[in-house]
Amino acid sequence: MSRVVVLGGAESGVGAAVLAKVKGFDVFLSDCGQIREDYAETLRKWDIPFEQGHHTEELILNADEVVKSPGVPGTVPMVEKLRAQGTHIVSEIEFASRFDPARKICITGSNGKTTTTSLIYYLLRNAGLNVGLGGNIGKSYAYQVATEHFDYYVLEISSFQLDDVYDFKPDIAIITNITPDHLDRYDHKLENYVEAKFKITKNLSPDDCFIFDSDDEITIRHLDNIILRCKMLPFSQQKEVSQGAFLKEDKIVLRYEKEETDIYLQELALGGKHNIYNSMAAALAAKATGIDNKVIRESLSTFEPIEHRLEPVLSIKDVLYINDSKATNIDSAWYALECQKRPVVWIVGGTDKGNDYSILNDLVREKVKAIVCLGVDNAKIHAAFEGIVGSDRITDTRSAEEAVRAASGFASEGDVVLLSPCCASFDLFKNYEDRGRKFKEAVRNL
Ligand code: ADP
Repeated sequence: MSRVVVLGGAESGVGAAVLAKVKGFDVFLSDCGQIREDYAETLRKWDIPFEQGHHTEELILNADEVVKSPGVPGTVPMVEKLRAQGTHIVSEIEFASRFDPARKICITGSNGKTTTTSLIYYLLRNAGLNVGLGGNIGKSYAYQVATEHFDYYVLEISSFQLDDVYDFKPDIAIITNITPDHLDRYDHKLENYVEAKFKITKNLSPDDCFIFDSDDEITIRHLDNIILRCKMLPFSQQKEVSQGAFLKEDKIVLRYEKEETDIYLQELALGGKHNIYNSMAAALAAKATGIDNKVIRESLSTFEPIEHRLEPVLSIKDVLYINDSKATNIDSAWYALECQKRPVVWIVGGTDKGNDYSILNDLVREKVKAIVCLGVDNAKIHAAFEGIVGSDRITDTRSAEEAVRAASGFASEGDVVLLSPCCASFDLFKNYEDRGRKFKEAVRNL
């Protein structure tokens, strides 16, 4: 029996281990940290041997193949040892896709992955297809391949999950956009990050589709240097395209094969320029899946905002509170500010990932009346914006409650209080969900 060793015991690793077990391999899982109790319970339930807190070489180096979780960096000593002795290392999605005959729509990119993935899933469900949702969202892809029988999968895929991919092939691949983020994992080289994202297109064949943002310079520049032999479906808000989606006055035009369809912008459920892009990408994926225009239109107009992504929370004394806690980089906050039509009290800050705030200067000048910093070290935000909003209209806070209280002090009737932090949350919160929930709770307690 061939031996599969899984490194990393969280969502994707445990999923891969369960799938390997179901497929009859001799499986072992090893995690050098602590495994969460519910995952340990799953491993016990499936009778999969595992260890935590350390890696035992004798139990790992004898693997025929290793499945490495995206959370385990490629540079850890155990991985280097395995590579040195020539052991084949694959990612969870590579491993799982070998056992999965379903059609796959896979989404990667810097921003808009979850929104676009959820939109496409919603579209396919509404079209009555037997479809699973996975990857970075919910249950891991491998676990679902082990336990479900879907005809389609819509998978959100981070660039880390595209490491150690060889034969994995989507039927429809989407790159929403590429802006510098997580460069620390790529030797601070943009090209490495771009190449990691483009791995999603690597095995596309002439019947497959690649959907991409042709307004995105980084994407276009990279496309100039590679050859793809699949159907190309660009989307753009700046220019007409012969196949794909573009903006014409107040509507999106979809051109797919010989057909042309219009969708009015005012029909879209999700607001903001960025969501026009996301809706275009989703509509193209739906067209390429053969879904009816009527279903596409209806779905794009009835989709509900996802938690922590420009999520309206409450209106109090005609001040609207919006939770965009997932905006952990400059680009996403740019779009959040861009689509505000009312004066904004902006809650911003957290763990800075090397942000260049000057990109936001014009929007801040135009829309922001006061700034509430929510972070341990807010010096960069002060330096960037104090000159624009005025030093009496920028303040520091260290908890969601304090931030909401300060923001409500600045806000008057007709304003928006927008939490769109541009930064990761780890200085004061467990993660962005924790930050978003605490924000909502503080708003409800006002
Ligand atoms: P991801 O899964 O790639 O992190 P999300 O859909 O969760 O993307 O959105 C993350 C943040 O980026 C949210 O603040 C959202 O409002 C913003 N956003 C969504 N789509 C886009 C886009 N196409 N371009 C820029 N920002 C976006």
